[in-house]
Amino acid sequence: MTTSAIELENVVKEYLSHGEVVQAVKGVSLDIAEGEFFSLLGPSGCGKTTTMRMIAGFEAPSKGLVKLHGQDVTNVPPNKRDVNMVFQSYALFPHMSVWDNVAFGLKQRKTPQDEIKRRVGEMLEIVDLTGREKRRPREMSGGQQQRVALARALVNRPRALLLDEPLGALDLKLRQAMQIELKRIQREVGITFVYVTHDQNEALTMSDRIAVMNDGLVEQLAGPREIYERPATAFVAGFIGTSNLLAGSATGGELKIGGGRVLVPGHEGDVRVTVRPEKITIGTEEPSNGLSAVRGTVAEVVYLGTYNSYAVSLADGADATERSEGANQTQHGNRDDRAAARGGTIITVFQQNALD
Ligand code: ATP
Repeated sequence: MTTSAIELENVVKEYLSHGEVVQAVKGVSLDIAEGEFFSLLGPSGCGKTTTMRMIAGFEAPSKGLVKLHGQDVTNVPPNKRDVNMVFQSYALFPHMSVWDNVAFGLKQRKTPQDEIKRRVGEMLEIVDLTGREKRRPREMSGGQQQRVALARALVNRPRALLLDEPLGALDLKLRQAMQIELKRIQREVGITFVYVTHDQNEALTMSDRIAVMNDGLVEQLAGPREIYERPATAFVAGFIGTSNLLAGSATGGELKIGGGRVLVPGHEGDVRVTVRPEKITIGTEEPSNGLSAVRGTVAEVVYLGTYNSYAVSLADGADATERSEGANQTQHGNRDDRAAARGGTIITVFQQNALD
C-alpha cells in the first residue's frame, strides 16, 4: 500500500465577511499519495488556495482534520510542518545572489558549510541554473526566477511542496516549457507536489491525479484521462476542454434529439450527455446501425490552424438556438467537408459519455 502524504478529512473553512459567514471550503476530503503530482483545479474563487493554505498551515480549518504522513497536524504551525510553499510572486530576496537565495534556509538552520555547498550545487543543477550562481533575481527572466524559487523551496528537502499558480506570471510559451520542466524536477526529486491552478491544460499535462473543485467542493477526483474522457458532472465536462452538452428525456436507452438519436444504454428519464468535439464526425450519409447520430446544419466554420471548428445547429427547432451557441462543435484534421462548409444538412455521428 502506498503511504498517504497528505490527508484532508471533511475540511471546512468559514470566514466572517461583513457580518456574514462565508464558506470558502465546504467539506473537502483528499488523500494524496507520497510522491504524487496532485493538482487542485477550478475556477477563481472555488476554494483551491484556501485548501492549499490549510495544508500549509497558514489557515486553520473551521472543521475537519489535516494529516501529514499519518500525523494530525490540524493545530501545528506552518514552520513545524514538513512542507514548503512556492508562490506565483516567487518571493525571492532581490539583494541576494541566486546562490544565497537558495542557500538561505540551510544557513538559517546552521547546516555545515560543505553540506550547503554540495546541496545548493546539486539543486541548481537540477533546475538547470549551474553557472548563474552570482546573478541577482532582477538579472534573470521570469522562468529562471521561478526555477530559483523552486530550488530554494526544495533544497531543505521538504516531504511535500505546495505550489500556488507558480507559472501564472509567465507567457504561454515559457509556461508550457516550465510545465514539462516542473514535471521532470518532481520526478527527479521524488517529492509530493500539490499544485493549484485554474488552467486545465496545465493540470492535464502535469498531474498524476486532479481534484476538480467548484464552489468549495471537489466535483471529481481522478487521473487526467478519466477527468477528460469521463467527466463526472456537467460542470467538469464544461470546465475541462470543449464539450457539447445535450439534455433531454431518454426512453428505451435512447435520447431523441436533433432529428436523430443518442444512445444512452442503461439510462432512462432525464439525462445529460456530453460529447467531446473530436469524437464527432460530420458527414452527409446515414451512419450504419449502432451509432448515435443527430441532424443539423453547419452554422459556422472557424479555421484554427491544426483543426477546423464547426458550430452546428441541430435540426429540431425548439431549443436549437440555445444549443447552436457554440454547442455541437467538431474539430478534426484536414478534412475538407464541402457539403458541410456550404451549410447543407449534415449528420453528426459520435461516441458519447452518459452522465448520471
Ligand atoms: P483564485 O484562483 O481566484 O485564487 P481560489 O479558488 O484559490 O481562487 P480562494 O482564494 O480559496 O479561491 O477563495 C475561495 C472563496 O473564499 C472566495 O469566495 C473568497 O472570496 C473567499 N475568501 C478567501 N479568503 C477569504 C478571507 N480571508 N475572508 C473572506 N473571504 C475569503
